[in-house]
Amino acid sequence: MQRNPNEPRQPFSLGRLIGGLFLPVVVLAMGIGALLYHPETPLADPWNPTTPLDPIARLTPITHWKLMRAVADPVQCRAALAKSGAAFTTRPDQLTSAQCHIKTPTRISTTTSARLSPLETRCEMALRLTMWERHGIQPAARKNLGADVARIHHFGSYSCRKIAGSERMSQHATANAIDISGFDFTNGKKIRLRSDWNGEADKRAFLRDVRNSACTWFGLVLSPDYNAAHHDHFHMDQGRWARCR
Ligand SMILES: [Zn+2]
Repeated sequence: MQRNPNEPRQPFSLGRLIGGLFLPVVVLAMGIGALLYHPETPLADPWNPTTPLDPIARLTPITHWKLMRAVADPVQCRAALAKSGAAFTTRPDQLTSAQCHIKTPTRISTTTSARLSPLETRCEMALRLTMWERHGIQPAARKNLGADVARIHHFGSYSCRKIAGSERMSQHATANAIDISGFDFTNGKKIRLRSDWNGEADKRAFLRDVRNSACTWFGLVLSPDYNAAHHDHFHMDQGRWARCR
C-alpha cells in the first residue's frame, strides 16, 4: 500500500524511540550480565570484572577498576600483592596520631622482579609501585637500555612532616606517597635522577618514559620538570590533587 504523499509525516517522538529501544536494551543487558556472572563465563580473567586483580596479568580497560577495588580493601590488597610475587611483610595499623599514621603497613623488599631496600608504606602504595614496576619501569628499561631493572632506589614513604614551605601536612605523613631516586640494571648500568635527568640520551629517554608511565599508576607525579625540590627524585602520591609533571 502506498503512502499518501499528502499525509503529514509523524513528528519525531523521544518517548516512542525510548519505548522501541527498551526491549532490545533489556535483552542485551541480561545477556551481558549472564556472560559476566555465570560461573563458567568464557571471559578471560583480565577481562572478567568478577575476578580479583592479578597485578602481572596483561592490562585491559578494566584493570584500573580492579585495582581501585583491590586498594579499597586491605585483605584484597594483600592478596593482590602476594599474587604479584612481591616480597613483603605486614603488621597492624600504626596510628601514631590523626595527622601521622600508616594504615595497612606493608614492608616491601621486592616488587615483581626488582629489589629495593625495605620500604615501609601502606599496602595501596606497595601495590601501585609493583604495578608500575611491571607495566611501566621494566618495559621502559628494555626499550631504552636493553636490560631489566634489578634494583629500585628510594627516599622512603612514611615521614611525619609538613609540605616544605607550607602549613599543610605532606602525603608522606600518612605513607600515601613514595619518593624514587634511581634504578640499577641487570647489565650493571645505574641511573640516578640527580645526575641523569639531563644526561646521556638513553638514560634521559628512560627517565621520561618512567615518569610518564608513573602517571598511569599514581594520581600525582612530580619529577625534576616540576621544580628544583624534585631534582633528585620522583614524588608519587594518592592525595587529592592530580598532576603529571
Ligand atoms: Zn615525596
